[in-house]
Amino acid sequence: MSETIVAIATALSPSGIGIIRISGDDAVKIADTVFEKPNHEKLSDQPTHTIHYGHIVERNGENDYKIIDEVMVLLMRSPHSFTKEDVVEIDCHGGVYLLKRVLMLAVKAGARLAEPGEFTKRAFLNGRIDLSEAEAVMDLISSGNENARKNSIGQLSGRLSCKIKELREKILYEIAFIEAVIDDPEHYDSMDIKLRLSGITEEISDSLTHLKNSFDNGKMMMNGIQTTIVGKPNVGKSSFLNLLLGEERAIVTSVAGTTRDTLEENISLDGVSLHLIDTAGIHETTDVVELIGVKKAKESLEKAELVIFVLDSSDSLSEEDKYLAPLLKGKNVIAILNKSDLNSDTPVVKEEDIVRIFENNPPVHLKVLPFSAKTAEGLSELTGYIKEIFFEGKINTDEEIYLTSLRHKNMVEEAILAIEKVKDSLQNDMPEDFYSIDLMQAYASLGAIIGEEVDDDLVDEIFSKFCMGK
Ligand code: GDP
Repeated sequence: MSETIVAIATALSPSGIGIIRISGDDAVKIADTVFEKPNHEKLSDQPTHTIHYGHIVERNGENDYKIIDEVMVLLMRSPHSFTKEDVVEIDCHGGVYLLKRVLMLAVKAGARLAEPGEFTKRAFLNGRIDLSEAEAVMDLISSGNENARKNSIGQLSGRLSCKIKELREKILYEIAFIEAVIDDPEHYDSMDIKLRLSGITEEISDSLTHLKNSFDNGKMMMNGIQTTIVGKPNVGKSSFLNLLLGEERAIVTSVAGTTRDTLEENISLDGVSLHLIDTAGIHETTDVVELIGVKKAKESLEKAELVIFVLDSSDSLSEEDKYLAPLLKGKNVIAILNKSDLNSDTPVVKEEDIVRIFENNPPVHLKVLPFSAKTAEGLSELTGYIKEIFFEGKINTDEEIYLTSLRHKNMVEEAILAIEKVKDSLQNDMPEDFYSIDLMQAYASLGAIIGEEVDDDLVDEIFSKFCMGK
């Protein structure tokens, strides 16, 4: 017998419709208390997966009720629902007060307010989805770009789970094999087993390492590449940002130092998502407001995965430009020689000048691009180059599996360590049961990704991060 839970499943702001979701053994009974069809038929007499027009009512007696809202009700009986329980969804009008009123009527009729993520938790506990698929639900809701969406829907459809299950099956087969050898030593040659196991651990280790390495790209896909735009005042940083955004987001003026603070935006460039931070020009200043901006800019540089260093190609390099170079040491830097429209044949600042100012403070990658924020010259080269350094020229969300959760990455790392131990034992000619212990550990670590052998506390923690009504 499951408690019946209820929540507002849509955002709490005035909108066309708002959905109240009820799940549990009494979902239909509770809906019958608050919902009245024009022909007075009961919802409990209706077949599953049907939609019903009617009213949400507040009852004072058998035939005495007050109409609260005009609604459509969806009936989904167990086990064919998101939670595998009886589920009723009420499509109300989307007023905040109204939704809360309907919610409280359902509570009065016997439902309990759901905790954040409780519907998805039930879907997991009732075996409809595994843990990594449940986590993908949250990622899908919060995905802010096409690649993040594709990756999340892939994970929700079981792409990561499939890979993990395949690896676990391989490991389990080896454990069973070793057990058989221990039980029946006469029929097996232990050298053969060691040889076989070395090959297989190598294979598993490669697959796991590949998965682990996908995390950085996965993270960038979900959150965007942390990108900081730097450059002294008036070189065209705001114009550059506006070009990328396609709108007048930053205030563009020809007075130096007008972008006082940092601006943050998410943009997508041909499928590559950037989390952009435009900084006030990092330069020596005594102005208090600017000082704050400069401090923030330096902080954002520390976190940056990519730095776009904007320079004015129509004006010779200044001390301020040179002051910036050491701050970019060890970063991925794209130096854009802006305002190329003014001097495409004879730029004052050339690639070799930029290379020179970085001579003593080499970035990890340095690319110098002629650019014009005015005419968009250089934009496709910029996009191509970003893809090249971060995704080796391609992003393959259709086939590749990218780890996007730190929890999954930690579990994969644990599994890699355990497999490394198996390899050590093989090298040191340890007895067979040493191998199975560590193989078992790798099996368990991978199991935690899909929610097998996980503690209740961890499950609670994961679902508590979900939003209400999901
Ligand atoms: P910021 O201080 O670095 O943010 O610079 P702004 O974006 O405010 O630009 C400063 C001035 O340079 C403005 O007058 C812009 O119109 C001009 N500007 C920016 N980019 C270009 C460009 O590519 N070509 C030309 N001709 N002018 C530009």
